[in-house]
Amino acid sequence: MRLNELRAGQSALIESVGGEGTLRQHFLDMGVIPGAEVTMIKLAPMGDPMELRIHGYELTLRLADAEKIGIRPVEKKAVPEKGREERKASDHPGLGEEGKFHPKGTGDPLPEGTLLTFALVGNQNSGKTTLFNQLTGSNQHVGNFPGVTVDRKDGVIRGHEDTSITDLPGIYSMSPYSSEELVSRDFVLKNKPKAIINIVDATNIERNLYLTMQLLEMKTPMVIALNMMDELTGNGGTVDVNAMEAMLGVPVVPISAAHNQGVDELVRHAVHIARYQEKPLRQDFCSAEDHGGAVHRALHAVVHLIEDHAERAGLPVRFAASKLIEGDTLIEEQLELDQNEKEMLEHIVLQMETERGLDHSAAIADMRFEFISKVCENCVIKPNESREHKRSERIDRVLTGKYTAIPFFVGIMGLVFFLTFFLIGPFLQDLLADGIVALGSLAERGMEAGGVNPAIRSLVTDGLFEGVGSVVSFLPLIVTLFFFLSLLEDSGYIARVAFVMDKLLRRIGLSGRSIVPMLIGFGCTVPAVMSTRTLPSDRDRRMTILLTPFMSCTAKLPIYSFFVSAFFPKNSWLIITGLYLLGIVTGILVALLYKKTLFRGEAVPFVMELPNYRMPSARNVLQLLWEKAKDFLQRAFSVILIATIVVWFLKSFDFRFNLVTDSHESILAAVSGLLVPLFRPVGLGDWRIVTSLISGFMAKESVVSVMELLFASEGVQTALSTLTAASLLVFSLLYTPCVAAVASIRRELGRNWALYVILWQCALAWLAALIVRLIGLALGMG
Ligand code: GDP
Ligand code: MG
Repeated sequence: MRLNELRAGQSALIESVGGEGTLRQHFLDMGVIPGAEVTMIKLAPMGDPMELRIHGYELTLRLADAEKIGIRPVEKKAVPEKGREERKASDHPGLGEEGKFHPKGTGDPLPEGTLLTFALVGNQNSGKTTLFNQLTGSNQHVGNFPGVTVDRKDGVIRGHEDTSITDLPGIYSMSPYSSEELVSRDFVLKNKPKAIINIVDATNIERNLYLTMQLLEMKTPMVIALNMMDELTGNGGTVDVNAMEAMLGVPVVPISAAHNQGVDELVRHAVHIARYQEKPLRQDFCSAEDHGGAVHRALHAVVHLIEDHAERAGLPVRFAASKLIEGDTLIEEQLELDQNEKEMLEHIVLQMETERGLDHSAAIADMRFEFISKVCENCVIKPNESREHKRSERIDRVLTGKYTAIPFFVGIMGLVFFLTFFLIGPFLQDLLADGIVALGSLAERGMEAGGVNPAIRSLVTDGLFEGVGSVVSFLPLIVTLFFFLSLLEDSGYIARVAFVMDKLLRRIGLSGRSIVPMLIGFGCTVPAVMSTRTLPSDRDRRMTILLTPFMSCTAKLPIYSFFVSAFFPKNSWLIITGLYLLGIVTGILVALLYKKTLFRGEAVPFVMELPNYRMPSARNVLQLLWEKAKDFLQRAFSVILIATIVVWFLKSFDFRFNLVTDSHESILAAVSGLLVPLFRPVGLGDWRIVTSLISGFMAKESVVSVMELLFASEGVQTALSTLTAASLLVFSLLYTPCVAAVASIRRELGRNWALYVILWQCALAWLAALIVRLIGLALGMG
């Protein structure tokens, strides 16, 4: 039988995992290995993907991928409930004393003043952000990893000025499957942090330890932060921490990051092992007793074979050996094996596969899970069924239920947008605008009193306060929107949205996760582009960024309502809705085009964990808002400031650098005049229209205000024909996103893509406007 044939509520054992390459490795890394028990929970409302329970956690999988996985019925084996009473929680600290893991006096500390660098590594949703914020307070710096746009946060551990901790992307394995995984792996291998802090979700130890085992192979000093202990003990579970330390060979510190419990102890251990460079006591997890010891023998043979090579390449040998058997080509290149050695390797792997009866990657994954199950058996008393999980199931019955999922999704998003764009956002925006105006008039009066040159005065008032001020006035919207979205994200709802919408997005070559940026795009393209950072694949991320501008942002709404009420007052709502739909339809068509051309590569499989719903932590949310606000303001006062000054200059001076009184004589008018012939075929060949469109590039809202200003004498309504208004509407809908959006696209994808977006969307808009005009002329309008 195949996994996709499993009915809701049924369980089965996995027999074989099909597919190949990194894709298949990803399944294995997520715990989909032969022998594992899966329970089918439900299908998404549209019938694809499916939700499964495996190794004690929930996972999504597309039916097409599930079809590659063979299953067989569960054979009832009596699980002895022995020893549940014998195991109990032990006091901590365990091995050694006072956080010293090795016996006292055996260390050789790093010289005083060495910077202790830490890498914070863990699965997604294990509480990394929460712990990082606890550890660093506000001493943090956000940036990108060099060369890749994956968020990078560095900070100093509070009270330890000689430390630096880096929050690595949440990952499930050290395979080079996603750019995040590669980043984390390269960071540990190349930057060589002095120690690793591995955060493990105690309510989900089985899956979390899979990454831990690969980290241990790195031979870097490490401490395990066993997080979410409050939830585990709250539901009657415990962990014998000392026994776990003994099995893993590293300190294990139970903590609750959200409640700031155990964090001090964690820091003491971390600083200690880093200073004394206490490496994990154990890297060898394969056992000679497991399944005849085939994997064990193979691993040790490969270790022996590549020892010198690994040393030369600066790779931890055990890590290199297991990756080599898994078929990791990057490691293979780095090791530079000769032909002879390659053949020997092949031989060893082949031998192992025949003896073990599993292929190479499955055998290694199985070996890891085998060891993990021993650790769990020995050290963990699982809670019966956690309250949080039951609660999540209840919530999910509604939020991902067959008939309720989509109405609730629409309702929730509607509420978020309503609150952001109609209630809270505008209120804050008005406050801020009043502040800016007050400040502006204060500056104006000050300059007047001081007798400042009128040109400079105009720059400050029109350029700075009007231009930058209008951009800064978006800040409240952005912050409010991000507030709600981070609530949705932290609580675990966004993962469900991706699950529910995957099937739709798949049709256009994306996966469920891209829905979030698209939705934000209806608010503002800037935060939408920023939010693509969470997407796992580079291809999806690029494609999503290029598509978000087609979702009509709120700044275009003033244009729509102005023209619609002036020219189409009878059908105003119909036309505005139509424009939104036209944007979406164009986006879909462009996506289909991209799928066939620019982004042909394979779509990533949609394998994603569905975490329990959790109460978002206020601290995380506030921290995030602060980051977004800072980020946005930085941009407003660099790129946007410069752009505004340039436009102001062009609009205020003529070619002899005299201040003009009528903007008709300005450089801007002359330059726009040059573009007029280009706009003539689509019926927009008037320098005033062109100018307002250009100023719309600064901020879309200004299209209307500039046009009113330039057409002041005749009035827009008499000056333009209905057909021109229609072309103009369509052009405004589709043409280049504003500078702020282009700047954020540039930041994510680089200058070439930003340029591409500008040109491509202008061309598209031009074409669409032409079509509108031709249709209009054919209908006898004009
Ligand atoms: P990340 O994805 O690894 O960065 O995880 P986050 O830090 O975003 O945490 C995921 C969720 O778990 C958030 O809703 C946190 O509030 C919650 N959380 C984090 N640490 C704890 C903890 O110790 N106990 C409980 N109950 N929840 C926690
Ligand atoms: Mg996080």
